[in-house]
Amino acid sequence: MMTREELLNEGVAAKFMRYVRIDTQSDDEAASCPSTKGQLELAELLKDELQTLGLNHAVVDEYSFVTASLPSNLPQAAPVIGLLAHMDTALGVSGKDVKPILHQKYAGGDIVLPGGTIRYVENPLLAKNIGNDIITSDGDTLLGADNKAGVAEIMEALCRLIKDPKRPHGTVKVAFTPDEETGKGILNFDVKKFGADYAYTLDGGELGEIEGENFNAANLRVTIHGISSHTGDAKGKMVNALHVASELIAAIPAGMRPETTEKREGFIHPDTIEGSVEKVQMKVLLRDFERDGLQKKAEILRKSAEALQTKHPGARVEIEQVGGYQNMKVKLDEEPRVLEFALKAIREAGVAPAPNAVRGGTDGARLSYAGLLTPNLFTGGVNFHSRQEWASVQWMEKAIEVVLNLIALWARE
Ligand SMILES: [Zn+2]
Repeated sequence: MMTREELLNEGVAAKFMRYVRIDTQSDDEAASCPSTKGQLELAELLKDELQTLGLNHAVVDEYSFVTASLPSNLPQAAPVIGLLAHMDTALGVSGKDVKPILHQKYAGGDIVLPGGTIRYVENPLLAKNIGNDIITSDGDTLLGADNKAGVAEIMEALCRLIKDPKRPHGTVKVAFTPDEETGKGILNFDVKKFGADYAYTLDGGELGEIEGENFNAANLRVTIHGISSHTGDAKGKMVNALHVASELIAAIPAGMRPETTEKREGFIHPDTIEGSVEKVQMKVLLRDFERDGLQKKAEILRKSAEALQTKHPGARVEIEQVGGYQNMKVKLDEEPRVLEFALKAIREAGVAPAPNAVRGGTDGARLSYAGLLTPNLFTGGVNFHSRQEWASVQWMEKAIEVVLNLIALWARE
């Protein structure tokens, strides 16, 4: 157990390297939240450290959300700012026995690890980090900078606020959340109880990155009903749902697929298919940054389905929406200060903001629609969800600076 003095003075790299050693890989199959025990272990550690630092109401709740509060030191009222990061690591790559390696004053070139090599030519961001300190795994596991870099930066930002009580700040609420990678954890978060007016996730990548926009998403279940018949005697009777399904998929415009789109382009994506002559079920994902773009894509699918029903009398195509999420930009536009201050805080740290539209969903989008506006800020980690993952200590320092700038900006409101 660390003492208060040690926590206050160890710095962000030491914190980060302690947190990544705990295996918090989440599990898509588990029904519980947290989906894995390691997340609870990290949650308890963070709660203990928050208590040692003297924060108020440091608790772990029944789902393993860690929350705590640093009281305002202002004479006047100011907005309550929330800082969030997730504790779990990606599903696809092992997070067990992570052995972080600190490469001091990176000199350029390939980073050779016991379990693999991070190649200079494949990592253009390494060139921007010559002379910086780089942290990697040993090459056999992911590193876990996604999102323990964010966790460590929030903890370190709190330490700096505590060490320097003359720094004006309103009430700061922190939350470390479970099961972000499965998308299920945040559904259990009590936004009201958290009590922040505005919040930021620290879950982005390279220096300067800021995300205030994400896809609108509609997840569709398409059910195609055919008519079965003995194959020897099928003429004029059988309507094969498999043929209808394959024609429906073939009708998706070639330029409107994940594999042919990028940046701000949306797509229609058949994700799963199963069935037989009588009935086929497909999962189809629609994505677009604009709402009417999403509607247009739904319309394309619906028109193809109608045409196929006419072409194959007796076939029936049902389309229903079974899930989705919305672009947080619509919500963030309601309070422009949330993004404006983030951009200003990045510039004040001497960094050029790099806005990025997320081609997916984010916890921040869900929070924004639950009433807590939450854009996403960079952490300084690179190659997330991979054994080649690395983090720059100097970029992590910049992320802390941005958080401190943000808190100072809101304190003046
Ligand atoms: Zn993440």
